[in-house]
Amino acid sequence: MTTGTSDVVIIGGGIVGCLSGYLLGQKGYKVTILEADSVGSHASGFAFGGLDPVTGIGLPEPLLGFSLWCYDRHQSLAKELQEATGIDVGFELRDRLNLALDDEAARSAKKELEWMRAVDGFNIEWVDNAQARELEPQVSPECVGALYEQSPGALEPYRFVLAAMGAAESNGVELIQRRATGLISEGGRCTGVTLENGRIDAGVVVLAMGPWTGQASAWCGVNIPVTPLKGQILRLQSGNESLKLAVNYNHSYVATKPDGLIWAGTTEEQAGFDENITSAARDSIMADFLKMIPGMRDAELVQQTACLRPLSADGLPIVDQVTGWDNLYLATGAGRKGILWSTGMAQAVLEMVTGVESAVPGTEHLKLDRF
Ligand SMILES: Cc1cc2nc3c(=O)[nH]c(=O)nc-3n(C[C@H](O)[C@H](O)[C@H](O)COP(=O)(O)OP(=O)(O)OC[C@H]3O[C@@H](n4cnc5c(N)ncnc54)[C@H](O)[C@@H]3O)c2cc1C
Repeated sequence: MTTGTSDVVIIGGGIVGCLSGYLLGQKGYKVTILEADSVGSHASGFAFGGLDPVTGIGLPEPLLGFSLWCYDRHQSLAKELQEATGIDVGFELRDRLNLALDDEAARSAKKELEWMRAVDGFNIEWVDNAQARELEPQVSPECVGALYEQSPGALEPYRFVLAAMGAAESNGVELIQRRATGLISEGGRCTGVTLENGRIDAGVVVLAMGPWTGQASAWCGVNIPVTPLKGQILRLQSGNESLKLAVNYNHSYVATKPDGLIWAGTTEEQAGFDENITSAARDSIMADFLKMIPGMRDAELVQQTACLRPLSADGLPIVDQVTGWDNLYLATGAGRKGILWSTGMAQAVLEMVTGVESAVPGTEHLKLDRF
């Protein structure tokens, strides 16, 4: 059974696939997105939603320029998606305290400040314990101090991915809820995708399968170094006041979200493709949460979620043409920052498919041949 013919078939209805589809549809391409489950049913729908271009992996080098571009684009995109779909993705500027709970952490935070201070548009300063507790009275009295970031953003990931898919559909993009099982090729060209039951012909194919993209190595004969890195989040209810700021400590974070719940995360687990929640993760997240906000000992667990980040071998995204193939592209591997980086990755997909030079800074660092 042939399901049809598309100019571009995107495999994966996470945020990277949906946004790429939206941009390609806007340029008039006939696009089909293949999604094995439902749109946003994995990491893209269950992430925390922090948009911080000045902390984390790849910063300041090589991805500061790329991250800042991605961050700026979120602001315009949120409006664009709302106009197209009526969905408010919840973009907001939310100040953040990155807590240092000992002297060593304070020293390394102050060292980071040296380059952070030079970033235009972001006001980041060191605050001591008293200033930190004035900004957010519920943070630990044990903290030595904190980096106070005044303009990182946040959004609601599930709404974001639904809005991206809705806007894509309003640009004529078709969603097919079927699993892709392989590629059809002639010489170095990919002519289509096989499905569990059928096939679809394609002018161009984009692999945006998140942590499952590594499985396409066997389809195309090229090693795609992407594996799953599991992360879990707790949604909690507390009788305490809402948190005024987002609070981070090491790799963990907490914030009061627009649903009124306190979201606390996270874990980094090598657990293959297992997406089940665990009590070990619950306990470790609770331990970090109480180190940050010790007064919320009474908080009750409302929901626990688990999902898989697409982790490349160096933790940075891969957006490139697949070696040896004329018309097969990759957009994956964004790890812990895929919601932030999705805007730049989708723009880079658009530019690769249309054959124009990238206007997004730093895309030369996203190539597959770096591995
Ligand atoms: C706990 C947690 C918190 C996070 N918090 C943040 C955050 O605060 N900020 C941030 O920027 N990032 C965050 N991230 C990272 C972010 O969620 C991911 O990097 C991003 O969502 C990856 O998007 P994606 O589209 O590449 O992959 P996915 O969302 O995994 O989408 C891939 C899709 O492809 C589909 N698929 C796979 N194989 C096939 C196939 N054969 N056929 C058809 N469909 C297929 C899957 O079903 C899936 O829906 C977080 C991640 C986790 C786990």
